[in-house]
Amino acid sequence: MQRLVLRAALVAAALLVCAGARLRAQTAWMWTHLWGLPELQGYFPRATGTAFVAADFSPRRWPEAISGPYRAGVLDWPEVVRVRVRDGKVAFAKPPALPPLVAGMRHQAILIEVAESDAPDAAFPLLHRFDARDGRVLRLSFRSGAAHLFLVEVSAPPPGTSAFELALEDAAGKEIGRLPLPLEAGPAAHLHVDVVDATTKKPTPARVGLYGDGERLRFTGAADAIAIPVFQDLVSERFVRDPTWPVANHLAFACRGSFDADVPPGRVRLVVKKGADWKLVDESFEVAAGESVTKSVALERVFDRAAEGWYSADDHVHVGRDGSNDADLLAWTQSEDVHVACTMQMGDSTRLDFLQYAWQEAGVARAGDHLLLPGQEDPRSGVRGHALCLWNAVTHWDAKRYLAYELPFDATRADGGLTGYAHGASAWEGARGLALSLPLGKCDLIEVFNNGALDLDGIYGAWNLGYRVTPTGGSDFPYGRQRSLGDSPFFVKVERKFSAQEWIDGLRAGHAYVSNGPLVDFEVDGALPGDVVSKAAAGAVELKVRARVNPTLDALKEIQLVVNGDVVVRKSAAVGEESELSLTATLDAPSSRWIALRVEGQRTVAHTNAVHVQIAGEPSWRREGLEARVAAFEAKLDELREAVVATFGPKEQEDALEPLLRAAKERYAELRAQAAKFPPAR
Ligand SMILES: [Zn+2]
Ligand SMILES: [Zn+2]
Repeated sequence: MQRLVLRAALVAAALLVCAGARLRAQTAWMWTHLWGLPELQGYFPRATGTAFVAADFSPRRWPEAISGPYRAGVLDWPEVVRVRVRDGKVAFAKPPALPPLVAGMRHQAILIEVAESDAPDAAFPLLHRFDARDGRVLRLSFRSGAAHLFLVEVSAPPPGTSAFELALEDAAGKEIGRLPLPLEAGPAAHLHVDVVDATTKKPTPARVGLYGDGERLRFTGAADAIAIPVFQDLVSERFVRDPTWPVANHLAFACRGSFDADVPPGRVRLVVKKGADWKLVDESFEVAAGESVTKSVALERVFDRAAEGWYSADDHVHVGRDGSNDADLLAWTQSEDVHVACTMQMGDSTRLDFLQYAWQEAGVARAGDHLLLPGQEDPRSGVRGHALCLWNAVTHWDAKRYLAYELPFDATRADGGLTGYAHGASAWEGARGLALSLPLGKCDLIEVFNNGALDLDGIYGAWNLGYRVTPTGGSDFPYGRQRSLGDSPFFVKVERKFSAQEWIDGLRAGHAYVSNGPLVDFEVDGALPGDVVSKAAAGAVELKVRARVNPTLDALKEIQLVVNGDVVVRKSAAVGEESELSLTATLDAPSSRWIALRVEGQRTVAHTNAVHVQIAGEPSWRREGLEARVAAFEAKLDELREAVVATFGPKEQEDALEPLLRAAKERYAELRAQAAKFPPAR
């Protein structure tokens, strides 16, 4: 623990140095732990109530926190320790009735309410970690004026009854008072688990959930989990967003290949998962008090997408890198089997966060066929969306012309990189950004897969105007609740030997699909998603579809062929087709069009890039209604101009944007003129 804290401090110091005078490093305080009731029930299975949000406590930022939107926390839990502060004295409202703990076990929890009245308003929820090996005094900070509800995560209490003390401190760190807090811990069982690749018999990283206490599923944790950077913290466990996780409790950790844990005697449930290609292991067994148990988990592949040339990726992982944490980050990506984790520096018009130490090859870290690839989510505004730049050679950032995203896009593309929009180009007025970048030919990709859900309006709108844009997926880790590495992945076909450059080239070619489960093969006249099929005259195209899914994670429901935004063919999985479903079809193509494939599982989903069928030189647009859709995009340009004038201040921003807006309008005029040559509905 001490070592991790020290390392975090060193990383923070390094970031400050790199940032230089003009750019500030990330503030030390952030919302790092957002809890809803489902997460909380990992600790308190009988808890009921509404959402509960806990934040790491930082006295410095307390005034903002207490007036912030996260104040309410309602939790019905019978064993809350109620402490009262009156006239500078501390007392229990009634004698504490603490739940019995398990000796040595990590991540147990107690709830402590600190208030000045006996009927406090909704308490401000806070998370506090307490390792019983660090001393016998649990120190909590209390600020007068609001009730506090501390979720105290207790790790490794000693066996038997121990005399701990609760010390309350004021904002200045001065002790207000102390109370005896006896903790009782029953005997544990000890567990050692080896996770190996069933083929090589070698240890392999994987995601692990370990749940004790029978069906109450209290999380137990492990002593040697991979440290995951969450803002300024390093955490050893985190709730995962994963519809295929078989346990209601989604708190899990990243295991390097083996771990040790103390668990409560009784039934233990062990869940091990390594991405979408490997069989998930879910087993339960009994352990007795004082017993030491060794388990070996052999992970088997269902399929090997990488061997077929398709490499999984997350294009949106916010982790700062100075080189010192690359090995841990790579072990983490291996545990989720994310082959390419795009580590994204993040900016706005005033600052940069999650700094990267180098770019392109110099910034790539690699272990086997998993790698970290630096990029930037920047520019980023509420005026025209959040931009993604991949494979940029330096940080592209210009505060004075910040809203002219096309300038860093040009620079990134000149570097050999790719550019586009995050969050489906729907959040934060991304549609305005698309309306400008698309006609100027500067948008390569749209991150359509977020939070395990498809956000397709932006990319369908682009395809319907004939623009070839590639769909990607990203987690935006660690923002929001339960964002986890690779929770919304995409796959890129790599033609030659896997490397960062080859992967970027595959992405540039558009050979990609997003999926959190199904493995998808899709061809139109032998062409891959992202390709153009050029035909001299109207005629038929041959479609070949195969969808597979790992039966330990999901079952297939339906495949859908999407043409110009409409589902034209559906095929449901019949009995016996739950894990593999194929379709060959001949589709009439009387005019140009785009064709994509969507695969629905029971819990997961996939969507390919479009194959663009162009007939007699006509773009692969949706000709019908095109004029109205162009007009809507033009209106977005006007909206963007007005928003910049109204909200962004310096005239330089307007001046930088103006020639781009003019050029885009010219391109739309050309598009209308071109469209006039083709009849609208065929
Ligand atoms: Zn964003
Ligand atoms: Zn982001």
